[in-house]
Amino acid sequence: MAERYHPETAAVHAGRVIDPGTGAVAPPIHLSTTFERDPDGSYPRGYSYSTFDNPNRAWLEDAITQLEGGAAAIATSSGMAAIAAVLSALKPGERVIVSYDLFQGTARLLNDQLRQWGIAVDVVDVTRLDEVAAAISPQTRMIWIDTPSNPLIRVTDIAGVVALARPKGVRVAVDSTFATFVLQRPLDHGADVAVYAATKYIAGHSDVVNGLAVFREKGALYERARAFQINVGLTPSPFDCWMVHRGLRTLPHRMRVHSRNAQAVSEFLEGHPRVARVYYPGLGSNEGWQIARRQMPAGCGGMLSASVKGGRAAAIGTVARVKLFTRAASLGGVESLIEHRASSPIQTRGQGTGFTLPDDLLRLSVGIEHADDLIADLDQALDGNWAP
Ligand SMILES: *Cc1c(COP(=O)(O)O)cnc(C)c1O
Repeated sequence: MAERYHPETAAVHAGRVIDPGTGAVAPPIHLSTTFERDPDGSYPRGYSYSTFDNPNRAWLEDAITQLEGGAAAIATSSGMAAIAAVLSALKPGERVIVSYDLFQGTARLLNDQLRQWGIAVDVVDVTRLDEVAAAISPQTRMIWIDTPSNPLIRVTDIAGVVALARPKGVRVAVDSTFATFVLQRPLDHGADVAVYAATKYIAGHSDVVNGLAVFREKGALYERARAFQINVGLTPSPFDCWMVHRGLRTLPHRMRVHSRNAQAVSEFLEGHPRVARVYYPGLGSNEGWQIARRQMPAGCGGMLSASVKGGRAAAIGTVARVKLFTRAASLGGVESLIEHRASSPIQTRGQGTGFTLPDDLLRLSVGIEHADDLIADLDQALDGNWAP
């Protein structure tokens, strides 16, 4: 269905069911943990126990599978759980290639768990295809890409990495949280799996923690992740699945506004005398601009970062003055957030990836307010900092 309709239409209808018992147009939430068997012991309606499967989870998985153009999906209790489920396909002695600016939670998972389980991690700059090619060894089984990445919003050429990986039997996983299917469908570029913190844009209202992984084939990678989801109990609640599914229906419209606003804010910041550098792939000055134009033609999403002139004190001062932006971590909600990244409790620097964060960096999650109001707020926050 997602192939026949525009994304706006597909998002409203994907995984949609009219409740056969009541005719309810909005899907019911099935809290039941267990489902009735027939006299012959079978489960004719397909559900037995909620850890194995649940209607709300199944509808959400069905919806994201269609919207990403995949073959199967798993919904999990968090974005990290989806990432862990995908990485669980790796066996002792195998290697995974990651980027130095890998999402910090994924870096912690690799360092604290996967290394202990005998999986080796090779750290490169994944935006540089020559570095990726040089890092592939006979033991390499997976390349992990975050695109756009956190917190410098760097863009990786998914098809370029796939072209290096596929002939060697190496899987490519893409954390596409900052983009979503609206802006970029990793499977279309040849990736084996697209992974999401649905906590962010997909749910979109900063009120639910959830994860999704969508697979190009219903093969071994999917089967391993599905088994991990069930065996470890990474199962999301029916209510959370219902919330995420609701978010999906408005996602195309929200993503376009996030992108348009972030484009306007990044252009404003780039021209501001108090700003040293802006990191946003929608800017012609950005290293990833050419790839982004091809890979994310509908827009570059709502995440951007900026270095302010005056170092750490000026960065913290700017954040202290905002009135409309909220000072908070996380991203992807309708409301705009700003954060001095280097002092965030969530930012654990480096984590074995050798990446040090600039001290003057502000990270912005641009919401769906009017761009002019956001720009005015940033303008007064930046100027006030330098008032005589
Ligand atoms: C937030 C985030 C995650 C982790 O998601 P949780 O739901 O917090 O577990 C993974 N990847 C990216 C890019 C994220 O922003």
